[in-house]
Amino acid sequence: MSQKYYREKIDNIVKDFDTDLSQGLTQNAVEKKKEEYGKNKLSESRGVSFWQILLNQLKDLIIIILIIAAGLAFLIGDNLEGFAILAVIIFNTIIGFVTEYQAQKAVASLKNVLSKMALVLRSGTKKEIKAEELVPGDIIFIEEGDQIPADARLFESTNLTVNEASLTGESESVSKDAAANFEEEKTLAERTNMVYMGTTAARGKGKAIVTATAEKTEIGKIGEMLDETKEGKTPLEKRLDKLGKSLVKITLVVIAILTVLGIVMGRPVYETIKTGIALAIAAVPEGLPIIATITLAIGMQKMVRHKALVRELLAVETLGSVTTICTDKTGTITENQMTLKKIYLDNQEIEISGTGYQPEGDFSKAGDKIDLSKADDLKLTLKASLLCTSAELKQEDGEYTVLGEATEGALLTAGRKAGFSKAGLKEEGYQKLAEIPFSSEKMYMAVAYSTAENKEHLYLKGSPDVVLEMCNSILSGGEIKELTAAKKEEIKEENKKMGEEGLRILGVAFKTGENLNSEAEINNNIEEGLTFLALTAIIDPPRESVKKAIEETKKAGIKTKMITGDQMDTAAAIARMVGITGSDNVVSGQQISAASGSELKELIKSNSVFSRVTPENKLQIINALNQEKEITAMTGDGVNDAPALKKADIGVSMGKRGTSVAREASDMILLDDDFATIVTAVREGRVIFDNIQKFIYYLFSNNLSKIIYIFLGIIFNLPLPLIAMQILWINVVIDVFPALSLAWEQEEDKIMEERAKTERNIMDRSFKKKVAVHSIILAVGPMLLYVWALKSGYSLELSRTLSFSVLAFTQLFHVFNARRKSGIAFDKTVFENKYLWLAVGIGFIFQLAAIYLPALQGILSTVPVQASLWLPAAVAVVIPMAVIQIHNWKSYK
Ligand code: ATP
Repeated sequence: MSQKYYREKIDNIVKDFDTDLSQGLTQNAVEKKKEEYGKNKLSESRGVSFWQILLNQLKDLIIIILIIAAGLAFLIGDNLEGFAILAVIIFNTIIGFVTEYQAQKAVASLKNVLSKMALVLRSGTKKEIKAEELVPGDIIFIEEGDQIPADARLFESTNLTVNEASLTGESESVSKDAAANFEEEKTLAERTNMVYMGTTAARGKGKAIVTATAEKTEIGKIGEMLDETKEGKTPLEKRLDKLGKSLVKITLVVIAILTVLGIVMGRPVYETIKTGIALAIAAVPEGLPIIATITLAIGMQKMVRHKALVRELLAVETLGSVTTICTDKTGTITENQMTLKKIYLDNQEIEISGTGYQPEGDFSKAGDKIDLSKADDLKLTLKASLLCTSAELKQEDGEYTVLGEATEGALLTAGRKAGFSKAGLKEEGYQKLAEIPFSSEKMYMAVAYSTAENKEHLYLKGSPDVVLEMCNSILSGGEIKELTAAKKEEIKEENKKMGEEGLRILGVAFKTGENLNSEAEINNNIEEGLTFLALTAIIDPPRESVKKAIEETKKAGIKTKMITGDQMDTAAAIARMVGITGSDNVVSGQQISAASGSELKELIKSNSVFSRVTPENKLQIINALNQEKEITAMTGDGVNDAPALKKADIGVSMGKRGTSVAREASDMILLDDDFATIVTAVREGRVIFDNIQKFIYYLFSNNLSKIIYIFLGIIFNLPLPLIAMQILWINVVIDVFPALSLAWEQEEDKIMEERAKTERNIMDRSFKKKVAVHSIILAVGPMLLYVWALKSGYSLELSRTLSFSVLAFTQLFHVFNARRKSGIAFDKTVFENKYLWLAVGIGFIFQLAAIYLPALQGILSTVPVQASLWLPAAVAVVIPMAVIQIHNWKSYK
């Protein structure tokens, strides 16, 4: 058969793939097809190529400066130096390349932790499998928010619209229609009876036969990556670049002064060029990019261990600066383990026993067990709420789980407790005709059925206030009576009472009628009035972990706002239970919609609980918070939440619940859906923020001190105090390990108590000042020793070796000034970071080798230092350290 499935009849496709629309493929058939077609997986992403990453390394300003320096070294005949710089360039390129490549792979594989899933019908059972296990001929179910797992031909669709931007570039969603027939050739975008891998269902639902998998799919043919990687540099990289550039600028100024001075003082050209090379090398923080990437990657790994999957390296840093967390209620604050507890029929309150989805429990009224054979109203309510669901209950090894929404799981379980199931009702003759799927905007869902008696029934469930507005009658004692205003008030009162207990309440209604065969027909019929059946009250207890997490955010000065689609009383009750608020104040979605700019800001600033909120309101809230310069984390799970997730500084989606659209739009995925995980991630983010600041301080003060050191040499008209090879040695061998070890520095005391950092800038003014002052102090010690040694008549080589070592040791020990935010070197945490001690130990041994190992002496132009000179050297190391410590102590107090 041709590959043009959109022009084929469904029957032919079924035959072609040897499948069955109501049963799906058998396991045997699946196995065979797997051998023939392989896994439904596109080959490795071709995102950023090997060459691109390599070229990226060479484009770096740092490398360009080094290349010029190497060129100059060869020009003046200093081949050894030239080669050494070249070696550094190659080393840097390789390390830079490997880390970037690894980081990209790590990010890619982390993304895969959540493998894409697909709902499929096999041997008559609906189940969830990994999308890569799909084969052509499989029958798949498509629901709102799903990423389409393969190319497939629709044979059923209900208001299905699909976003095909990843394939066609068209950002508007397109309507799909299983019934569409095509005689002629059509473009991809016009094939409305097909769905394609990598696109997403924006609305509605459908069933389809898989026609192509893996490389055979349209997207596979194009060979493009599915998820767009963000181009451009991250803010942290930009900031580091900027800092690198300012160092280069300082160096250029120094080189200009040097040239002028050289001419005025008549210094030899050779010496001037050599100093220039040395300066250029001194200015370059060779290890910086690698250390930055590794620190963020370590943070990312740590967060995954705490069940927070960060999708962008950079978000790790932003997390530490979050000032407001906007969270939804259901599933994030609460357990999402729903159980139907009460049913309120006209004038009767019925209690249901049992927990979770185990279909065991009784119905009772005022403590007395109800005889179901005599309770028709209750049975109709249970049937109606069961028939009006899309979810399914699954039993595996005696454990019941829900495939679909937890709310619906509670209703299905309650139905089972009375002996009803969807399959059973189907056997009784209930045939589904059409449905209005649930949406957060409408807050209800309706399904029409035909019955064995050939009647048409409509069942509806949703938010009680919305449902009540649609009803004009009520079922009472088997009779349909008028729903009077007084009755409505009575029901609303009951709704409020149950809401105040933190119960999640749905209204259920029904009607018999005609012409209920499509969504449009249902819509027409709904307006004619429904019969109110009951209020169903579901318990969804708050998570254990949340209360503590909320306390922690309060101490940290982070505001928590609960933004829920649920109704006011339930929202307020849950918010009070976990300590988000102490008051009854709840702002409604309507109030948000009606508020003007400044009112809105005030409303959002002074409240913490928002109910009946639509995805659009969420976007309004985020915009207002952004204007207030809050740094926001916002959770979301629906397709329509994507814009708000993108707008938030940290968009947070759920690993268990929610749609893949929300996941793709988010920066962080909570693998356990738990609010407390956001707080843990913020905490980790703060540790990382601190550690980045620490190594930047360490590296930049070290580099700047070398520039100052050489500059002082020029001013005092001394022979070059440090040659390029020695600088390279310090930058590449001595500084890198201590800087890297800072990534393992433990959390600072009171990291959460400290007020949230509203200033996102790692390099604020006080930080820059500290770097400048400390660089000067670091340069003075070795310079004094150098001057002293020369004046005392020691040879130039020995004087240089001595001051080179003093500089190296000073910089090595400078890591103790950097390890704590207070700057205090020796406190009770000093032995916590063993990597730091290891790094210092290694550096110490290396530096001794640089002086006493003949092979290194040749390369580094060093000579052995006699023991008697170590005393003044030690003094030159200790004094600047002590001065910095005193400075830190003073500013700490
Ligand atoms: P949160 O926003 O905290 O996750 P939520 O689940 O209550 O809370 P929405 O999913 O926007 O938020 O639902 C809004 C309202 O619609 C709910 O409070 C409930 O009354 C109703 N509702 C939720 N799910 C369904 C459903 N499957 N069928 C009918 N009505 C529903």
